[in-house]
Amino acid sequence: MELPRFHRLQAPYYRLEGTRCRDCDERHFPPRTVCPKCGRSGLEPHRFSGRATLYAATRVTQAPRGHATLAPYAVALVRLEEGPLVAAQLTDCCDDPLPADA
Ligand SMILES: [Zn+2]
Repeated sequence: MELPRFHRLQAPYYRLEGTRCRDCDERHFPPRTVCPKCGRSGLEPHRFSGRATLYAATRVTQAPRGHATLAPYAVALVRLEEGPLVAAQLTDCCDDPLPADA
C-alpha cells in the first residue's frame, strides 16, 4: 500500500468505518468512492458493528524482516456481520490455540 493511502485509511481502520451504497445496500470495508456492485458513486459513511465470524486464522512465527520482535502473532480473515471479509491481526490470543492449530 502506498504511504499516502496508508495514512488516509488509518482512522477508518481503527474505527471500522466503511461505506454503504444507498442503491443496493452493499457495505464496503475499507471505504470506497464507487460501489463495486452497482457502480453508484457518492456512497454514505457506515460504521461497522465490530461483530464478526472467524473465517480463517494462522500464527506467524517467522515475521518479515524488520518485524522479528513482533513474532509470534496471529492473523485472521474475519467476515464482518455486515458482509465484508477483512484481514486483521488478532491480539491477546497468541497463547491460546487457534482454529488453524487444531
Ligand atoms: Zn451499490
